[in-house]
Amino acid sequence: MAGKKVLIIYAHQEPKSLNGSLKKVAVEELSKQGCTVTVSDLYAMNFEPRATRNDITGALSNPEVFRYGIETYEAYKKTALTSDILEEQRKVQEADLVIFQFPLYWFSVPAILKGWMDRVLCQGFAFDIPGFYDSGFLKGKLALLSLTTGGTAEMYTRAGVSGDFRYFLWPLQHGILHFCGFKVLAPQISFGIDVSSEEERKVMVASWAQRLKSIWKEEPIHCTPPWYFQE
Ligand SMILES: Cc1cc2nc3c(=O)[nH]c(=O)nc-3n(C[C@H](O)[C@H](O)[C@H](O)COP(=O)(O)OP(=O)(O)OC[C@H]3O[C@@H](n4cnc5c(N)ncnc54)[C@H](O)[C@@H]3O)c2cc1C
Repeated sequence: MAGKKVLIIYAHQEPKSLNGSLKKVAVEELSKQGCTVTVSDLYAMNFEPRATRNDITGALSNPEVFRYGIETYEAYKKTALTSDILEEQRKVQEADLVIFQFPLYWFSVPAILKGWMDRVLCQGFAFDIPGFYDSGFLKGKLALLSLTTGGTAEMYTRAGVSGDFRYFLWPLQHGILHFCGFKVLAPQISFGIDVSSEEERKVMVASWAQRLKSIWKEEPIHCTPPWYFQE
């Protein structure tokens, strides 16, 4: 939809990968709609995934005992976080929709993306206590996980060997995104990439592009335990 701002957090090393293709068609389709699309290409940026005291510029509030959560909370309030975190927070703040594009690593996100979440979504910026879940500071924004898996769709069913895919979405969609206030759109999961044919992968890329044509009409999921564990 013209005028909307989309941020794509992209975590793959190789532009010619399937993740690279999914990112590329998203940029093309959303740009065609008149959206402003920004991509944080984490590997290309050499994004620092480690949460360390280097994330705070200037004096620590307690130099004796380092507590990352407390120090980044205080630093956020004083605009004393390191510039790469501030830059990512600015991009998130401007976005109407944040798309995370990544391959599933160990039922989760690649470390570089987990590091982005650890460092960028800090207390004071993304949430406070109180000020989380529906009151999280990123409320009013949409988030969507677009991920690829090695395992097949059949493996990721309740009776399948890997269990329902919704189980591994719980910590990501609920524990991180919903906690920070995002409304979560249904995930886009491209299953079984490691055993797929080129034709099957082409269909997956095309169906993602097709879905994006009406993405702004979608209703968020009900991001509560029943969506993950009962339905
Ligand atoms: C550390 C690690 C942990 C993992 N943990 C898990 C796990 O817990 N669960 C699980 O299920 N999987 C897991 N995997 C597997 C991983 O999720 C998949 O290998 C990955 O999702 C595949 O996506 P890709 O983009 O890397 O594919 P690629 O291997 O880069 O691409 C697959 C093929 O698609 C081709 N391609 C690119 N663009 C197109 C296009 N437009 N049309 C057609 N073909 C195209 C490429 O040329 C390539 O041949 C893990 C992998 C690693 C390395």
